[in-house]
Amino acid sequence: MLVVPAIWETFLTLIRDEVGSRVVETWFKAVMFREWDPVNKIAYMDVPNRFVKDWISSNYLSLMQFHLGRLLHVESPQVILCTQAKKNEACQQKNVPPENSEPTEKRIPIASVPRKTEMVTNRSAAVLPHVARAYSFENFVVGPDNSLAYAAARAITEQVGTAYNPLFIHSGSGLGKTHLLHAIGSCIKKEHKNASILYQTTDRFVHEFISAIRFDKVQAFHAKYQKVDVLLMDDMHFISCKEQTQDAFFHIFNELYYARKQIVLSGDTLPQHMKGLSGRLQSRLTGGLITDIQCPCLETKIAILNKKAELNQLVLPDEVVHFIATRIISNIRELEGALVRVMAFASLTKQPITLELAQRVLYYASEVDQRVIDLESIIQCVSKHYPFSPKEIKSQGRNKELVFVRYITIYVMKQLTEKSLREIGIFMGGRDHATIMYGLAKIQQFIQSNEQLRQKIRSIEMELKG
Ligand code: ADP
Ligand code: MG
Repeated sequence: MLVVPAIWETFLTLIRDEVGSRVVETWFKAVMFREWDPVNKIAYMDVPNRFVKDWISSNYLSLMQFHLGRLLHVESPQVILCTQAKKNEACQQKNVPPENSEPTEKRIPIASVPRKTEMVTNRSAAVLPHVARAYSFENFVVGPDNSLAYAAARAITEQVGTAYNPLFIHSGSGLGKTHLLHAIGSCIKKEHKNASILYQTTDRFVHEFISAIRFDKVQAFHAKYQKVDVLLMDDMHFISCKEQTQDAFFHIFNELYYARKQIVLSGDTLPQHMKGLSGRLQSRLTGGLITDIQCPCLETKIAILNKKAELNQLVLPDEVVHFIATRIISNIRELEGALVRVMAFASLTKQPITLELAQRVLYYASEVDQRVIDLESIIQCVSKHYPFSPKEIKSQGRNKELVFVRYITIYVMKQLTEKSLREIGIFMGGRDHATIMYGLAKIQQFIQSNEQLRQKIRSIEMELKG
C-alpha cells in the first residue's frame, strides 16, 4: 500500500529545491494530501481556503502534477484541490460523485474525517476561468521593462511563423516569461482554431524524452512534436548538459523551423550564455529574435498590482499598492504573493484592506526577506566595482567613465529603493530631477544592447540584496 503522507513529505523536499523554502512554508505546508485514487489517478488535496487554492492552482498545479506523477509512478495524475465550501455543487458540475455517495473505486483513505469541499482540477484549464484569463495579453501589464518582449510576442501572433522565428525570451525568475508564452498560445488559438499549439516546459520535455527512450517510444515522441504548428518551450535552461535530449530537440527544432512553424522559447539567460549547450543548438536558438524582460520599475509594479486587484474585483487604496510595490523588489511572482496574502488576511478576518493591515501581514516578509538597502550602501557598493570613490561619484566631475558610473549608481538606486528621483538627486550631490531622469534613461538604453553591463548591474544588485 502506498504511504501517502510519506509521498507528500518527499514531494515537499523535492520542490523545496525548485521553488524555495518560502514558497513551501507559505503555500504547501497548508496543503494536506488527503487521498490518492489509483484507479482514476486522482490526488485529492485539502487546502484551507480559496486563496490558497487559487494561488496554488495558478502557479503550482503543473509542478504538483509532474512531481506527484513521478513519485506515484503514473503519468499525468489529476490533482484536485478541495476547500471547505460548496462541495456537492462542485462535484455535480464535474461529474464527481459527492462525498456521501457510494465510492465506485477503491481509494486509499488518508484522513478519517470527510470534508466538505469545493474543487478545481488541473485537467481542464477551461474550468479555471481566472487561470485562462490570467495568462493573456490583456492581463499583461506593459512597462518599459518588458515592452520589447511584449511587442515581439504580439508580432508573432499576427504573423505566425514568419515574423520572428524562433523568438527567445529571457529574464530572471518570476518576471513574466511563462505568462507571455501562454498569452501567445491562446491568442493564436483564437485566430486559428485548428492550429495545434503545444506549450511544454523543458523540464517535462527532458523527462518525456527519457521515458520515451526507456519505453521504446521515441518515434511517438518525435511524432507528437513534429505535428505541432506552434511550439512554446518554457525554461530552456533545463536542457543544459543533457546532450541526448539536446540532439532530439535539435532535430525537432529543425523540422518545425523548415516547415515554417512558429517556435517560441524562454530561458533564464541569453542562449549564448547558457552553459552546457551544444554549439549547433546554441546557434539555432540565437538565430531569430532574442528579447529580455527586465526587473520591473516601481511604476510597472504599481500597475501590475492594480491590474491583479481589478481581476479580483477589488479596489486597493493607493497607499497599500505603493507599500506592497516598494516592499517587493524585483520579482512579480512575489509581488502577487504579497497581494494574495494581504487579500487573504483581510477576507478571512473580514477587515477592509488598509495600509496598517498590509503592513501587519507583510511585516514578516519585509523584515526577514528584504534587507533595507539605503542610498549610502548602494554608492559604496558601486564604488567597490569601479575605480571611483563615493565622493567622486557624487561630484560634478565630467570624466566620461565617471559620468557613466554615476548613472549606474542612480539606476541601481531607483531599482532597489523607494526613493523618489528628487531624493536621489539630492543625495547625488544636489542634482535635479531631470538629470536623474536622463541618467536612468541612458542606462536603460545601454542595457538593452549590452549584456555585460546588464550582468554587472545584476551582480551589484545581488550583492546589495545579500
Ligand atoms: P517567469 O516565467 O518569468 O518565471 P511568470 O510568467 O510565471 O514568470 O510570472 C510570474 C507571475 O507574475 C505570473 O502570475 C504572471 O501572471 C505575473 N506577471 C509577470 N509579469 C506580468 C505583467 N507584466 N503583467 C501582469 N502579470 C505579470
Ligand atoms: Mg516560468
